[in-house]
Amino acid sequence: MDKLESVGAVWHLLHLVSLDKPPQGKPCNGCGLCCIAEVFDLGKELGDEEQCRALMPLRAGRFARGLVTDPYRFLSPDRLAPWRAIDQLAPGAQGEEALKSHFAGLLGTGRGCDADDEAIRAFQVEADANRQLPLM
Ligand code: SF4
Repeated sequence: MDKLESVGAVWHLLHLVSLDKPPQGKPCNGCGLCCIAEVFDLGKELGDEEQCRALMPLRAGRFARGLVTDPYRFLSPDRLAPWRAIDQLAPGAQGEEALKSHFAGLLGTGRGCDADDEAIRAFQVEADANRQLPLM
């Protein structure tokens, strides 16, 4: 992950974050900070450059990347057509499983936290500095 461009519109999502980010390179704990701080290119392709449409809040304050866990929910029918064709030909939803593996590879799933520690810290500091006080 490169240096982040902070996007004020997503600061409101930080209240959903409850886990501390592990150091870069350590196992991912699903804290969600990377995807909140910056939408990855694959997420941008879903049509929102400020808030990832495929970021899925889970219980216990964790997040999942929807393109890896449930890609059929987020892609257009056009983009899913080849994968659904494989499903038709092979038993066991092999097209869907192949698509999940494809996105897992592209997003580095299983390779540890890839979010730059300093960039995430700077994002959090900026969010704290701009947090609006309640009017009453
Ligand atoms: S890659 Fe890092 S910042 Fe992103 S969810 Fe995993 S632990 Fe959190």
